[in-house]
Amino acid sequence: MADKCIYCGMDIEDEGILRQVDGNQMRFCSQHCAVMFEGLEKKGRMRAAILTERAGILSMLEKERGARAITLIHRREPWEEKDESYINIEDSEHVLMMIRQTPKDEDVDLILHTPGGLALAAEMIAMAVKNHPAKVTVMVPFYAMSGGTLIALAADEIIMEKDSVLGPVDPQISELPAGALLSLLDKKPVESISDENIMRSDIAGKNIERVKKMVLWLLKDRMERRNAEKLADFLTGGYITHDTPITFDVAKELGLNVREGIPKQVYSLFRTFEFGACPRPQYAKY
Ligand SMILES: [Zn+2]
Repeated sequence: MADKCIYCGMDIEDEGILRQVDGNQMRFCSQHCAVMFEGLEKKGRMRAAILTERAGILSMLEKERGARAITLIHRREPWEEKDESYINIEDSEHVLMMIRQTPKDEDVDLILHTPGGLALAAEMIAMAVKNHPAKVTVMVPFYAMSGGTLIALAADEIIMEKDSVLGPVDPQISELPAGALLSLLDKKPVESISDENIMRSDIAGKNIERVKKMVLWLLKDRMERRNAEKLADFLTGGYITHDTPITFDVAKELGLNVREGIPKQVYSLFRTFEFGACPRPQYAKY
């Protein structure tokens, strides 16, 4: 691998610019990057070093697999105090931009590690994955719950491990499962249900229908229509709790195109993140 500039991540041509930083001899691509790096505080230097390391790992993975590598990983960054640990609109903008910049005939590997997040953001990413003309592989080394699973359903192939997990994609309405909200109407006379919960269950019903249609659209050309309908209903109807793990064997049985064996480079990539910083997946929003 060609040496990369620790500040900008570009290849260093010839000798580059040599500098002593914190007692270490370092090489930069340009005078500009050397000056900028020296101006950073300790955390900024850590960030630059880790991002460059990640870029190097991803470019090795890209060479090995001949596909553009994109990540959606929710773990705390070692240089940050707080964690951004669910799928948000910034994520969808980032992933959409990366997919759009990938030539139409180039395959994509999307490395996914998330408890879920905003429905709209997850749906936008799922649509972009589905619409990319070349092959898209989603890799789930540990878990991709809820909205993460929705994105995985959009892929041509899902690579996971025997004990990686996906989950149901039933929507959560103000932290409550849509299916449970809807069933409230059957369990109590309507006069004894609060106006708020009647409205919530109305929204819940509409959300379930929308997500069911979306899942059906994602699956319909990957399996028989009848099976796709059944699976879409199973994953969105709230028959199982939102944190029920769908393991490799179950995913296979459900008819998803799963394959075992996450590439080694992906685990090298995970070494550069902090462990244990995400909220547990049962708090997933959708
Ligand atoms: Zn540079």
